[in-house]
Amino acid sequence: MPQKVIILIGPPGSGKDTQADLLEKEPGVVHLKSSKIIEDNFRADPENPEIKKQIEIKNSGGLVDPPMVQRWIKEAINKTHSSGSGIIFSGSPRTLLEAEEELPVLESLYGKENIIGLDIILSEDESVKRNSSRRVCKANSHPVPNFPEYDNLTACPEDGSEIIIRADDNVETAKHRYNVYLEQTKPVVDYLKKNNFRVVDINGEQSIADVHRDILNSLHDS
Ligand SMILES: [Zn+2]
Repeated sequence: MPQKVIILIGPPGSGKDTQADLLEKEPGVVHLKSSKIIEDNFRADPENPEIKKQIEIKNSGGLVDPPMVQRWIKEAINKTHSSGSGIIFSGSPRTLLEAEEELPVLESLYGKENIIGLDIILSEDESVKRNSSRRVCKANSHPVPNFPEYDNLTACPEDGSEIIIRADDNVETAKHRYNVYLEQTKPVVDYLKKNNFRVVDINGEQSIADVHRDILNSLHDS
């Protein structure tokens, strides 16, 4: 079976990173995380003046140069393809511009028929609810996933400390994040459809296990 490229797209709180981690347990696919690609490139060439500058930008809360990140992502795509693996994306492409850069590369390597977009659907209300009541542990801020399976958790499984609601997460911030998603990332779904890539809607308002099952079914249908 040819290797697949699975692009998970969804608003904040849709659990796409959790789903990507679950999918990575399937044989023959690797989860490509933009944050990890950036860290690996920083580590590979720390004395390079341009890299030094980017590390400073990142440490002061800025955005690492987007064209540079795109180049690194494309290198990671090529390397993963050469190793014979498929790819799972959960945070890239994040914008239409990134989609226009990455999809032609992916298509030339893997073939259009092996690329699938999974659009995890979550209403604004649910996204806001999940993100404005984010629960973390008191001692180390370990996040508690926003899913019913964890509703009754009162102590951190890792350090036993109390579970609290993080004060800096509020409704306005969560609404803003959802709208940024609609404006910047949702167009990636339109791009995929317009260019005849397969896109499957996944109901994100279910348990982690049910979302995972729906995703596996959509992959096996293709
Ligand atoms: Zn903890």
